[in-house]
Amino acid sequence: MDQTSFFKLGLIAPLEKRLKEKKYNNPTPIQEKTISKLLDGNDLLGIAQTGSGKTAAFSLPILQHLSSDIINSNPVKIQNSTQEKRKPIPRALIIAPTRELALQIGKSIESYGQYIFAEQTVIYGGIKQLYQVAALRRGVDIIVATPGRLLDLIQQGYVNLENISHLVLDEADLMLDMGFIKDIEKVLQKLPSKKQTMLFSATMPKEVSKLAKDILVNPIRVDVTPKKIILDQIKQYVYLIDTGNKMNLLLDLLKSKKMTHTIIFRKTKRGANYLGQKLYRSGFRAETIHGDKTQAARQRALRQFEKGRAKILVATDVAARGIDFSRVSHVVNYELPNIPENYIHRIGRTARAGSEGVAYSFCDVSEMSFLRNIERKSKQKIKISPHSYQTEKKKSGNTDKSKKRTKYTRQEKSTSEEKINPRRNKRRFENNEKDKKPNQSTSNKEKVQIITSKEKKRFYSHKKKKSF
Ligand code: AMP
Repeated sequence: MDQTSFFKLGLIAPLEKRLKEKKYNNPTPIQEKTISKLLDGNDLLGIAQTGSGKTAAFSLPILQHLSSDIINSNPVKIQNSTQEKRKPIPRALIIAPTRELALQIGKSIESYGQYIFAEQTVIYGGIKQLYQVAALRRGVDIIVATPGRLLDLIQQGYVNLENISHLVLDEADLMLDMGFIKDIEKVLQKLPSKKQTMLFSATMPKEVSKLAKDILVNPIRVDVTPKKIILDQIKQYVYLIDTGNKMNLLLDLLKSKKMTHTIIFRKTKRGANYLGQKLYRSGFRAETIHGDKTQAARQRALRQFEKGRAKILVATDVAARGIDFSRVSHVVNYELPNIPENYIHRIGRTARAGSEGVAYSFCDVSEMSFLRNIERKSKQKIKISPHSYQTEKKKSGNTDKSKKRTKYTRQEKSTSEEKINPRRNKRRFENNEKDKKPNQSTSNKEKVQIITSKEKKRFYSHKKKKSF
C-alpha cells in the first residue's frame, strides 16, 4: 500500500502528516474498516483488543471532528499556534477501565493530535485530584478517564459533560468485570442524547451486548479477531509441568534464554508479590504491578521496566491492560488463564508494532482444559516445548509412597515429543496410576508427562480425612 493510504480513508493533512512521522504506513484492519465510517458519524461496536490499533481507529476521527470545531471557534489560534482566547469545553469523553490504559490512550491522542491543538487530560484515581481539577478548570476538549474518579469529579461539580459529542467506552468487558457498570450508567445519564458512541470490547458477554443495545444507534459492527493480528508473529510454547516445579523451570528459562524484556503473568496479586520477591532473591531485578499497588508504585515499576533497569515485570491481568512497550521480548504465563481471550491479550504484550516475540506457558494438570479452550479459540495448536520436565521416581524399588522422591530433569528434545497431543497427556495425568506400568516407563518418548506428587499427596490426605 502506498504512503497515502490513510489519506484515502478521508483523514485530513495534519493527521496524515503525523501518521507518516510515526511511520504508520498502512492502516491496521480495524482502522481500515472503521475510520471512514466513523468520520461519517456512525456509531460503532468494535470487537477488538489492545494491539489491534483501535486507539488510532477511534482517536483519529474524533480529532478530525474536533479540529474543524477548533478552527471555526478560533482561527487565530490555529494560525499562530498560541493558546490565548480559546477556552475549550469537553466534547469527547473516553472511558477506560484502568489507569494504565487511560494514560496510554491519553499519550496516543496527544501524539496523534500534535498538529490539531485539541486540549486533553487524563483523569484517574489513586492520586490527588488537584492537578486533574486544575486541568479541567483551564479547559479541555478531550477527557480520558477511569469511571470511578470521573464520577467523583462530576459529583463535585468539576466536570460538565453537557457538550459531549463523542463517547468511547473502551474495553467494555473488563469494565463490567471490574464492577464499573453502575458508575458508567451514572455517567451516561449526564451525557446529551445526541452524540456519536463507540464501544470496544475484547469479548462479547451478555452484559456487553445489552449495554451495546442500550447505548448504540444503528452501529457498524467490526470484529477483528486477534489471531489475525498478532499470533503469527509470536512463537508460542507450552510446558506441561507440575505446579511445584514451575519456579525451577522459570529460573532455568531466565538463565538459559535471552529474555531481555519479560512480562510474567500471575493469576493473583499474592502470587505476583511472591514471585517478584522470589526472583529478586534469586538475583533477578524484577518489578511487580497489580491492583493493590499505589498508582505511584505502578508507574515507577513500569518506568523501571521500560527503561530496562528491571528486565522482568511480574503482573496480574488487570494491571497489565494498557502496557504497550515495543521491546517486550518474552511473555510467560506462569498460570494459564481460564479465559482464552486473556491468553491472547497477554501474549499480545510482545510482538508489538510488527516485531517478533516469544510466549511460554506453564500448564499443570488443572490447567489442561484451559489449554484446550485456548487452542480451540485461537484455532491453532500450541507447540509443546522441546524441553519437557518430568517426574522421576527413585529407582530404589521401595514402593512406599511417602519415601518416593521427585526429581525433575530436563529432557533433551526429541522431535516426536513436540507433537505429543495434550489430550493424550491429560489422559495420562488422569490415569496416573496406570503410568506405573513397566511398558510405559521404559519408553523415553512416553516420559514427557509429568505428574505432581504434591497433588497426589493432597488427594491421598483428603481421602484419609474423609475416611475418619
Ligand atoms: P493499540 O491497539 O491502539 O493499543 O495499538 C497498538 C500498537 O500499534 C501501538 O503501539 C500503536 O502505536 C501501534 N499502531 C497503531 N496503528 C498502527 C499502524 N497503522 N501502523 C503501525 N503501528 C500502529
